[in-house]
This record gives sequence, C-alpha cells and structure tokens, in this order.
Amino acid sequence: MQFNEFGLDKRLLSAIEHMGFEQATDIQHQAIPAAMSGHDLIASSKTGSGKTLAYLLPAMQRLIRNKPLAKRDPRVVILTPTRELAKQVFAQLRLFTSGTQFKSVLILGGENFNDQVKVLEKDPQFIVATPGRLADHLSQGHFYLHGLELLILDEADRMLDLGFSKQLKQINQAADHRKRQTLMFSATLDHAQVNDFALELLNKPKRIAIGHAHTEHKDINKRFYLCDHLDHKQALLEHFLAHEDYQQMIIFTATRGDTERLSKELSEQGLSTVALSGDLNQSQRNQIMDGFSKGQQKILITTDLASRGLDLSNVSHVINFDLPKHSEEFVHRIGRTGRAGSKGDAISFVGPKDWWSFKNIEAFLQQNFTFEFIEGLKAKFKGLKPKKAAVSDKKQSAVKKKAVKKKAPMARKASNKTFHFAEDAGDMPVLRRKGGLQEHEDNEEG
Ligand code: ADP
Ligand code: MG
Repeated sequence: MQFNEFGLDKRLLSAIEHMGFEQATDIQHQAIPAAMSGHDLIASSKTGSGKTLAYLLPAMQRLIRNKPLAKRDPRVVILTPTRELAKQVFAQLRLFTSGTQFKSVLILGGENFNDQVKVLEKDPQFIVATPGRLADHLSQGHFYLHGLELLILDEADRMLDLGFSKQLKQINQAADHRKRQTLMFSATLDHAQVNDFALELLNKPKRIAIGHAHTEHKDINKRFYLCDHLDHKQALLEHFLAHEDYQQMIIFTATRGDTERLSKELSEQGLSTVALSGDLNQSQRNQIMDGFSKGQQKILITTDLASRGLDLSNVSHVINFDLPKHSEEFVHRIGRTGRAGSKGDAISFVGPKDWWSFKNIEAFLQQNFTFEFIEGLKAKFKGLKPKKAAVSDKKQSAVKKKAVKKKAPMARKASNKTFHFAEDAGDMPVLRRKGGLQEHEDNEEG
C-alpha cells in the first residue's frame, strides 16, 4: 500500500517522500488506518519493520486535523524503556514537527530536572519520555494530562519488565478520559503480563499482529556455537572478529562488568570499540551512541540496555557473547541487525551457564537449533541434561549460600532476598513478572 492511500495530510506525505519511503510496511498498512479511526491498539511486528512511523503518522494526523481538548496540556505522550530509544523516536518525530506549530520535547531520566521543568512550562504538544522521569514531573504538578489525546507505549513489555507499571498507571490515570486513545507497540507483546496490563489501560483494543514473536526473521542468519568456558568464548570472538566481514557489530554481554572487561581487551588488541552501560552519565551515553551511529567505532559492547528499538543501519552483526536470561530479549537483541529489508548475522555463544537460556529461546521461538563449530575451536561441552542441571543448580545455590554467609549482614540480606546475582551491580532491583525473581539488570533509571 502506498502512503498516499491513507488519507494523510499533504505535509505528512511530503515528509515521508523526503524520507524516501513509498510503500507502507505491513504493520504500517494495518496500524495506521486502525489508529486513525480512533481504536486503541496492541500492535506487534518483527524488529525493524517500521513500527515507529506506524504510530507517529496517526499521531501527527490527529494533531493536524483535530482541535486540542485543552489549551496547555500535551496532546501526545510517547514512552519508551530506554533513553537511547526515546532519543531516536524524538529524532524521527522532529522530522515531522519541525517547521510546524507543534512543539515536541524530550524528557529523560539522568538529565537536569529543572531544565525539564522550564521546557514543560512551554506547553509542548508532544512529549517523548522515559516513564520514571515523566511520572516525577507529573507528581510534582509540572504539567497536566487532562487534554492528552494519545498515549503511546513503545516496547511496552520491556517497560513492564523493568518495573515501570506503577509509573505507567500513574500517567494513565492522569489522562483517564473518554477521548483518550492508547497504542501499544513491540515485537514481543504476547505474554500474560502485557495482556493484564492492556486490559487495565486500553479500551476495547484492536489487536494487530504481523506474524508472531516466534516467526522466523528471514533477514537474520542465526548461528549458535557451543563453548566450554570464558576463554573459549573469547577465542571464538577473536576468530569471528578476524574472519567475519562486518560493517558494524554489537556484542551483548550479561553484565556491565563483562562489557567493560571485553571492551578493554578488544581495545588493547587495537580494535575500534566502545562500551555502553547504564552506569555512565547521560552525556557519556549520548556521546557513545552518537559516535557509534556515525560509524566512529566498528564495535559496540553493551548489555540489554541496547537490545530494544535502536535503529542503526550499519549493524551487520550481532554477537551474543552471553545469552540473555529472558527469551524475548534474544529477539530484540538480534533485531538490531537485519532491519528494513537488509540482511544481518546473529552469532550466539552457548556455554554451560547459557544452556537453559538457550533451551528457553528454542522453546520461545518454537525451533530447534543446530550448533556450528569452528575447526580447532570445537567445544567439549555438549549441553546439559535436565536432571543433572537440577542437581547442579542445587549445588550452585549451596555454594552461593556459603559465599553469602561470609559477607556483611546487609549484603547477606540483599543477596538472599533481593538479588539474583549479587556480584552484578546494576541500577536497582526490579520485580519481573508476577511471582518472578527479583534481579539486577542493566536497566533504565527512568
Ligand atoms: P521497528 O520499530 O519495527 O523495529 P523502526 O520503526 O525503527 O522499526 O524502523 C526500522 C527502519 O525502517 C528505520 O530505519 C525506518 O526509517 C525504516 N522504515 C520505516 N518505514 C519504512 C517504509 N515504509 N519503507 C522503508 N523503510 C522504512
Ligand atoms: Mg521500534
């Protein structure tokens, strides 16, 4: 379907033409008319399939065509789980709002609070934000949402995973009127937690699902390699760095500590790398992402902080140095390549510690993967058997308990009750899923 068949305003069509797009993607084809007709939406489609425009265009159209409900309140709020993604969405939005009467602002955690108060006082029509910081401003009465027309939750499932449901509900309640429309987008929206949340927030939502989360992404070539231990992973990584023909690469690790260690090692080998982790300040984070998106470095090493939404067109390879604990993050990580019709490679290392994540990923994607190997770097490890694993889990927890006993009382309390991995110093403990483990992740502080 061509963009000019949606009945969009001429100014929007010329902006799209300027971007060089003619045909709408499948998700755009379905979501744009549904959103324009006023429906609440739960919309999912694979990574890199153009979900951002699928919500930005109806939002812009609504603002151009409808009268505001209130003079001063924002009309559209777009929330994302990470600051980097919010920045990217904001940049796309600006392509439509610049040169119009519509003001848009970006409100992120980690940036100057008072500057944001001043910006909010200018009564922007659009706010793009991370939920924690926006909820803070709302609590303090720096803006009101009585006139909000559209609440858009990009990567909604990840915001819930990160423990932002309270803030999302607060924002929702502040804008709880009849004319409000809500749109939820992600590549992975089909789990119970999202459904419960959607029932509460959305009004008779229309479900649009282009494929399932487990539908094979044909543009991403997935390869899995068994590994024995850390040094083995390291050797494999060095092999791929030397032999793969990559433009830019993102390497995902389990923890910030690993990110830093790897980055240091690869830099010492003279490779052009940069590391992004949540404990850097926002201007450092901005600098890193700006530099990498401009191609100043070839390799970005990071955690799940960068798994969602980021659209970096030269990323030809994703390497999972460690597998993510949550299967849906695998889909998002590898989705940093193979975007908008281009091809990508996703290489994953599966060591003993990754084994159960690997099995969960297979179950989630409803696929059985075969392992490839590199001559001279073949693993002895062949996988774990369920029974043995149960024993080894017990053993492991016994070892952990022992180690924990030696720690200071406060640390022991924290390790036993709150943190899954006490050695991984993240930002804050978050509650994941109903009855799930509380664990550290490299998450957003909002
Ligand atoms: P998603 O949110 O589904 O992961 P994005 O919205 O980030 O995907 O879009 C991925 C890439 O596709 C972006 O670079 C975007 O500019 C591009 N894109 C969006 N819509 C179209 C289209 N209709 N035709 C071609 N490319 C598009
Ligand atoms: Mg997206």
